[in-house]
Amino acid sequence: MKSPLQAVRGMNDITPEDTPYWQQLESIIRAVLASYGYQEIRFPIVEKTELFKRSIGEVTDIVEKEMYTFEDRNGDSLTLRPEGTAACVRAGIQNGLLHNQLQRLWYMGPMFRHERPQKGRYRQFHQVGVETFGMAGPDLDAELIMMTAKFWQQLGLEGLELQINSLGTKESRAAYRVHLVDFFKQNLDQLDEDSLRRLDGNPLRILDSKKPALAELIAAAPKLSEHLDDESREHFAVLCGLLDGAGIAYVVNPCLVRGLDYYSRTVFEWVTDQLGAQGTVCAGGRFDGLVEQLGGKAVPAAGFAMGLERLLALVRDKLTPANIPHVYLIVAGEKAQSKGLLLAEQLRNALPGLRLMTHCGGGSLKSQFKKADKSAAQIAFILGDNEVENGTVNVKILRGDRGQEQQTLEQAALSEWLKSEIAEF
Ligand code: ATP
Ligand code: MG
Repeated sequence: MKSPLQAVRGMNDITPEDTPYWQQLESIIRAVLASYGYQEIRFPIVEKTELFKRSIGEVTDIVEKEMYTFEDRNGDSLTLRPEGTAACVRAGIQNGLLHNQLQRLWYMGPMFRHERPQKGRYRQFHQVGVETFGMAGPDLDAELIMMTAKFWQQLGLEGLELQINSLGTKESRAAYRVHLVDFFKQNLDQLDEDSLRRLDGNPLRILDSKKPALAELIAAAPKLSEHLDDESREHFAVLCGLLDGAGIAYVVNPCLVRGLDYYSRTVFEWVTDQLGAQGTVCAGGRFDGLVEQLGGKAVPAAGFAMGLERLLALVRDKLTPANIPHVYLIVAGEKAQSKGLLLAEQLRNALPGLRLMTHCGGGSLKSQFKKADKSAAQIAFILGDNEVENGTVNVKILRGDRGQEQQTLEQAALSEWLKSEIAEF
């Protein structure tokens, strides 16, 4: 026998045991997004490689070493999306959604990065992303952050720290860059290989390094906040005031620069100390220049993305997914088999939301009870040929205080009885 094939390293199956938790996480997130008036957009998983190079930036981890890039049969260079912002902007421009409009968009789905797989870091992972267009002020930045805080509240997640910073405008960053490069050039011997390479192409990214050996040097580097233009300074001050007013605690982290080139002004991250080096659960900010950079008319924009694997690792214990059947229908005998399928259908029609599993595949009563037990259903219905003739069903409570309680009910009375029995209806 050949050995079975394995999935690609770092790309995981989500098994039926886990999907209910994913579904519940996703539905809580969807409900919050809807409550703020955000609308879903869906775009392809594959885009032209050029799109990511132009938006994310050539001198970034993603473009330098993490993209899944391949030639298709026409010889075009395509890439599995490593993130959603670039494709969302591309789709927004192409569908005429951005110019002269206010848009609040979200998307959800798999992203692909060729990184070293470890806990909280995978090669296929899932993000919920939010992008807004047409709103330049700090009120929108505050709304985005308040909405993320609402996610944590609705998920019962406590203890995340909000870090914020301002990257100023392109111009103020260019002025700051000169000071920063000067500083690093005076300390060349302390830079590692990655940082030396970035010194020319993208020196701000050195601040983003997670290498402990660089921490001290980075802490001593000149701060962007000392070189902000007046408007960015004002924008940041108003944002801080709005967060204060909303009672959202934050830490200003002057070294927070974010990995992607396209950010300007506000950047933020929600971090946890519970996931080791994979501590960022949600990250985002403002990217006012990106739409123009990708060929659209200039439109202010801001957004964030959160990693669902990391989020789920934090909240899984707090979720109570609804995947367990309420009722398992045991059918003993040929007549019962066909009557059972019909009875189950009638009950599902009468009670939307009812989760009723009918036993299929035959087997003794005993083996069917075992299956009922394994399904974790609260209630078993037992239908034998006698019951079919009498128009009744045996009902047995399988779990809880009343476990093992049995009674016989009229088939016609079942849906009323279920309504009184099942709390969620
Ligand atoms: P990190 O610093 O952890 O590499 P990042 O800055 O590359 O994160 P972003 O591009 O900002 O991440 O993506 C937003 C979020 O998506 C991250 O905060 C994280 O929660 C999640 N994420 C990013 N890369 C991965 C990955 N390889 N596996 C799982 N989740 C990820
Ligand atoms: Mg990364």
